[in-house]
Amino acid sequence: MILAVKKNIIYFAVLLFCSLFILTACSPQKEKVYKKSRILMDTLVTITASSDSAENAEKAIEKAFSEIKKLERLLNFYDANSEISAINRNAGRGSVKISPETMEVIEKAIFASKHTDGAFDITIGSQVILWDFHKKIKPDDNVIKKKLLLTGYAGIILDRETSSVRLKEKGMMIDLGAIAKGYAADKAVEVLKTNGINAGIVSIAGDIKAFGLRPDKKPWKTGIRNPRPKDSNDELLAVTGLTDKAISTAGDYERYFVKDGKRYHHILNPKTGYPAEGVHSVTVIANEGAVADSFSTGIFVLGTEKGMKLMQKMGIDGIIVDFRGAIHMTPGLREKIEILRNSK
Ligand code: AMP
Ligand code: MG
Repeated sequence: MILAVKKNIIYFAVLLFCSLFILTACSPQKEKVYKKSRILMDTLVTITASSDSAENAEKAIEKAFSEIKKLERLLNFYDANSEISAINRNAGRGSVKISPETMEVIEKAIFASKHTDGAFDITIGSQVILWDFHKKIKPDDNVIKKKLLLTGYAGIILDRETSSVRLKEKGMMIDLGAIAKGYAADKAVEVLKTNGINAGIVSIAGDIKAFGLRPDKKPWKTGIRNPRPKDSNDELLAVTGLTDKAISTAGDYERYFVKDGKRYHHILNPKTGYPAEGVHSVTVIANEGAVADSFSTGIFVLGTEKGMKLMQKMGIDGIIVDFRGAIHMTPGLREKIEILRNSK
């Protein structure tokens, strides 16, 4: 009898020890993922931070949102109080003093223009305002032609010494719509890092920057949209892991209207003033969000052949879906990406 009780006690102790061990081994990792979303820069911004403290994560995420808000105030083409609007108002008249951030993003935009042979050009502003994709307004051909004279990044005069910028011609306009989100993602990541976050992801619509690894030590996962989904089960083109990289997609499905069977979308060819033709979407993966954002737009305008060559020359990865739906990928991307849709 006593022996049986003893046996039971030992059995119970062993069981307790085992379950404690299992509990400790399976207890959730200390690092957790915290996520918040907000509407900023006219779109959905989601910030994810991995941290062992909810309080620290929350504080860092709030500071990153504030950084994006600050950049929105400086760079918004449609806000009369932004530095960009001040530059545009003074076009052909004089220089405008600008903040280091505005200077930096304009410099990065000029870098993209030089490497895309002007396919990416922030002086597209005077063309952009002619189009209204909600009201389906296609501008008059002659007006487009006239405004072409006001497009050309050579007309942006930067003076680093006085921290000012000037546009050569009256009527010229800078629009940072194709680079500001990627740049803001870079800056928001910097803010997360300086506030003690070692891993996370900032996504501003289709412009995403990830750093570090998830708590399970795997890269952050991100999907690439199918530009022509057949149904709601067909919306993802591919999935890729991302760490310490930015990814941006420029697509003709983001803002567009169809008139007389023709699709008019928001990515314009600075040489013609009309929506660029030849591809449905371009995704670029680069170290910097500003590069991924600007080059995805520029490569969209350049088209498949020139775009693929440029990515290889620049050492950046990317994927182009051309007008037939065929997928073109840089060799470096093949092992890092899972394609969910068969190439045509
Ligand atoms: P994204 O969605 O990044 O390709 O940016 C598109 C936005 O950038 C448009 O809505 C315009 O405001 C502007 N944009 C259009 N075409 C160009 C271009 N060729 N170069 C630079 N910015 C452009
Ligand atoms: Mg872009």
